[in-house]
Amino acid sequence: MNIDLQPVEYDPFGGPEITKVIPAIEPQLEIWTACHIGGADASRAYIESVSMRMTGAFNRQAIERALKAVVNRHESLRSVFSTDGTDMLVYAEIDANIQYGDLSALVPQEQNEYIDNFIKENGLLPFDLVAGPLFRCSLFELSHSECYLTFSAHHIICDGWSLGIILQDLSRYYNAFISGGIPEIPAAPSFSSYADAQREFIGSIEYAHTEKYWLSQYEDSVPAVEMPLDFPRPVIRTYKSTRVDYALDVPTVLALKAIGIKAGCSFATTLISAFEIFIQKLTKQHDIVLAIPAAGQSATGNTGLVGHCVNLLPFRSSYNGTTTFTGYLKDRKSRILDSYEYQQLTFGTLLKKLNIPRDPSRVPMVPVVFNIDMGLDNGVAFSGLEYKLNYNPRQYETFELFLNVSGSEKELVFEWSYNCRLFTELSIEAMMSDFKALLSFFIQQPDLKIADIPVFRQDEIKVNPTENNTVEYPKEKTIHELIQDSAELYPDNTAVFFNGQSFSYKNINQTANQLAVLLQINGVKPGEVVAIALERSPEMVMALLAVLKAGAVYLPLDPAYPKERVEYMLEDAKAKVLLTSKKFEGSFTTSATSLYMEDARIRLPRYSFENAVSPVKGNALAYIIYTSGSTGKPKGVQIEHSSVVNLLLSMQNKPGITAADRLLAITTIAFDIAGLELYLPLITGACVVLADTDAAKDGRLLAALVKSEGVTIMQATPSMWRIMLESGDYNALPAKILCGGEPMGVDLAARLLPRCQSLWNLYGPTETTIWSTVKQVVMDNDALLIGKPINNTRIYIYDELLQALPAGETGDIFIGGDGLSRGYVGKPDITALVFTEHTLPDGTKEKIYRTGDTGKWTPDGDIQYIGRSDNQLKIRGFRIEPGEIENLLLSQEDISEAAVVAKDNRLLAF
Ligand code: AMP
Ligand code: MG
Repeated sequence: MNIDLQPVEYDPFGGPEITKVIPAIEPQLEIWTACHIGGADASRAYIESVSMRMTGAFNRQAIERALKAVVNRHESLRSVFSTDGTDMLVYAEIDANIQYGDLSALVPQEQNEYIDNFIKENGLLPFDLVAGPLFRCSLFELSHSECYLTFSAHHIICDGWSLGIILQDLSRYYNAFISGGIPEIPAAPSFSSYADAQREFIGSIEYAHTEKYWLSQYEDSVPAVEMPLDFPRPVIRTYKSTRVDYALDVPTVLALKAIGIKAGCSFATTLISAFEIFIQKLTKQHDIVLAIPAAGQSATGNTGLVGHCVNLLPFRSSYNGTTTFTGYLKDRKSRILDSYEYQQLTFGTLLKKLNIPRDPSRVPMVPVVFNIDMGLDNGVAFSGLEYKLNYNPRQYETFELFLNVSGSEKELVFEWSYNCRLFTELSIEAMMSDFKALLSFFIQQPDLKIADIPVFRQDEIKVNPTENNTVEYPKEKTIHELIQDSAELYPDNTAVFFNGQSFSYKNINQTANQLAVLLQINGVKPGEVVAIALERSPEMVMALLAVLKAGAVYLPLDPAYPKERVEYMLEDAKAKVLLTSKKFEGSFTTSATSLYMEDARIRLPRYSFENAVSPVKGNALAYIIYTSGSTGKPKGVQIEHSSVVNLLLSMQNKPGITAADRLLAITTIAFDIAGLELYLPLITGACVVLADTDAAKDGRLLAALVKSEGVTIMQATPSMWRIMLESGDYNALPAKILCGGEPMGVDLAARLLPRCQSLWNLYGPTETTIWSTVKQVVMDNDALLIGKPINNTRIYIYDELLQALPAGETGDIFIGGDGLSRGYVGKPDITALVFTEHTLPDGTKEKIYRTGDTGKWTPDGDIQYIGRSDNQLKIRGFRIEPGEIENLLLSQEDISEAAVVAKDNRLLAF
């Protein structure tokens, strides 16, 4: 939709003439500082904005004239700020630019889309406090009898009350102009006089009383309100917010009002009290602070004043075990009146006096604000026009939660603005429904003890983890058979690209066939273990395939690993043959027969390159991979072909891969996730761009490879992605980013998301085959989620008694399904500890693996990763049991006690 907005640019202050300098008042200085420190997002949190849809024969000229008149009527709207924020500079006159757009050519749906989008963008546009103007307005013509007006201003010169005044003035001017007259409105109160009075007041005895009143409330302590959050709190406060609105039905409103009246309370007091109790119940805290904004205009008798006059009053409240709602109301009534009595408070000064320690992750003292804006448009009436008023949602918010009650008794709307990094919309929806439930208790049983009102969230979403994700797949098939199939389909496609050379599917498959024969001639039988210690090369890939084709089980060894560890693995896994290269000759002492690729290469041409019938089926072991063991020795995880086949087919679908893709493989084969990097492309006809040993460790080299080789997919740990980002070349990221092995981090997601086409968080222990859950990350916050189980995989979240937990409760993560390992080589005891049997609700028995990870279900059935229930660590993606190192230390003669801890030297990337 291309609509010309006119005029586009203008100089609001025409011939600038500053007629007044008003020293900024304390709360303005606070906002100025907050905008300065918090940057654009903080600034966006201070946008006040309303819209009106007006129907009837409107007069565009009169509306525009009226807007100009209103803007010039109020000092605040004619102001900007000095560069240091200490002064408000008031211009004599200001040319109120009104953006005008003719949308009448659009159908209503397009008009609405256009306006929604406009309002969104408008809410992202920060105001320039120095250059001004600090307001903006626009008018859209929808048809000859309908228009849409928006007015926005910076909170530093405007507040909720002011918006009401602006609308009132607007309608008065409009009505006068259309009848050819000039309105008889007395001059507006001046903000400079208000500011002067405020400054004087701060020095007065009365103010000393005000401050004393508030300080005395917090003499003993300042309660810290801990809202139940959906996500871990970011280390540095964030502002991104959104709003959902819910109406409260008229009968409830009227009944609530009646109960309030019985207790001698205004509707506002009744609502505030109810919300206080709600927050106490929700937080399970019996002593809370809730911020209530109070209009300075009404306190000072300047009802027609536009400016920043609002004060935040920190209401402290609590109820005891015997309090009823009626009792609470009676008690609160006088206290709330007192608080309003002392409403001329500068909240910032109070904070300083209370000496609350600064925490960069939190809103000081008042995370939650409750505001009542009912009757914002009292006294607003446009002749010949009906209007519908809307308070435009903020996209950035200073508070964790800002609940604004607007509308009228006939149509009361609860507008919940919430921080998106802390809450999900589902939780806010649950809050509204809980709040309504609480109100009906108050209405039906006002004399019931509040403590006896049942705790909320009775209607918690129960997640059904056994939900069917069963998908048919060829269970009997082996990994190498799938690859043979794609070699037949795409013989000439490049299977492996390495250091400038391409190796076709035909080439790789045929050579692997020959190598398999050689292995068999060397006595390798199905089910026997063949270790592989080779540099990263196409031969390494062929060797892996050859072992599988021979029906044997491969044991991948990273030649860079410590000698003792490699030797232990060779012995523990009972490797029959070690497939290696001359380069590593004599590196390891082992009873396995060493076969050198250099020798093999000469002999291969003698052997058949045809596919042979696989000596094994899907239920055979494919590999053994060692992971750190807490008792001192690594443990070998045994994985069957069908587990890998299931994983690969699931991944082929999600995150997805096609024959046209080029996947950059960087992971050492000693890690199970290398299996995805090599086999996923190879079962698809896609290309494995194989990074050599040097490149695999070097972010800059990898970035160069991504670019030069047209890499479309890459899988790496979060640490590796950070290194890639640090290489500085943001164009050098693949379209599809797979990330796993460690928590992703919201910061990392925020950096990757804008630079790729899709981002995926993958989770899974070696014991359940490479990855067990997958989550497409579309918002930064999704980084905290590991998603849903892959095909034929089930996740359970249990408490200590192995009872399934509902959404939102943290417990231990167990995994069941086709990815499960047979257990650890030669360690039946440890195997039995972590691979246990459990009975499903339908009575069937299932083997499940205790991951040691903790997590919780989100209401949408995703899993949120929380952490570990043991000491296991991940360092740059390496899984480490501190116990293994401790045991090794203890085996030294002079060491009697040992403790291993990880130190995080990484700077927080927030
Ligand atoms: P490994 O056996 O090396 O794959 O390590 C598995 C462990 O790594 C899991 O039990 C988790 O503790 C951790 N892990 C793997 N992927 C993720 C992920 N996406 N988010 C958080 N932790 C992860
Ligand atoms: Mg894993």
